[in-house]
Amino acid sequence: MSRSKLIVVSAPSGGGKTSIVKEILARHPEFEFSVSGTTRTKRPNEIDGVDYFFLSKKEFERLIQKDELAEHELIYGNYYGTLKREIDRAVSSNKTMVFDVDVKGGLSIKKLYGGTAVLIFIEPPSIAVLEQRLRNRKTEDEETFRKRMERVALELEMGQQFDFHVVNDMLAQAIDEVDEIIKKQIQS
Ligand code: 5GP
Repeated sequence: MSRSKLIVVSAPSGGGKTSIVKEILARHPEFEFSVSGTTRTKRPNEIDGVDYFFLSKKEFERLIQKDELAEHELIYGNYYGTLKREIDRAVSSNKTMVFDVDVKGGLSIKKLYGGTAVLIFIEPPSIAVLEQRLRNRKTEDEETFRKRMERVALELEMGQQFDFHVVNDMLAQAIDEVDEIIKKQIQS
């Protein structure tokens, strides 16, 4: 049986999960990151094939047709999906793989992989803080910002089904907490 763990980190948009995932990967070079496919436009600091596989809508729909995605969601008008081959890569080599996916995607991964998947939900200290963080990030135009905030309530509710909850008030502390959870899960 594979000893790999699929560590899913989800949070509402602006919840700080990307910072947390990046730091966890820096602390554990032996972990793999599941590079998702997306049709969203690349941000200036992102690298194709590292942060995401940036795909056209047509390319993404081909992946759906060919059943190459473990799960996919339409989020804020763009497709995002986890590639089966990324997961297979981790499972076949007994590696721990880290996922930065939305809440629904996390629950789908749990359904498919059961106890191999560990779901960690990052909660904002409050909705007001979350809104401010998302504004400070300045990666969104007003329309996208509104769409992201509308989805927050749903995400917070669905996040209750996750295995672990970490409040991201102080980022450094949240990272340590996530790290502890992962270490314990890997040993179990
Ligand atoms: P962003 O556009 O900010 O990079 O990501 C938007 C949302 O899509 C985030 O909540 C992110 O975790 C989620 N996401 C990224 N990749 C995937 C994926 O493969 N599947 C799902 N379901 N969500 C994803």
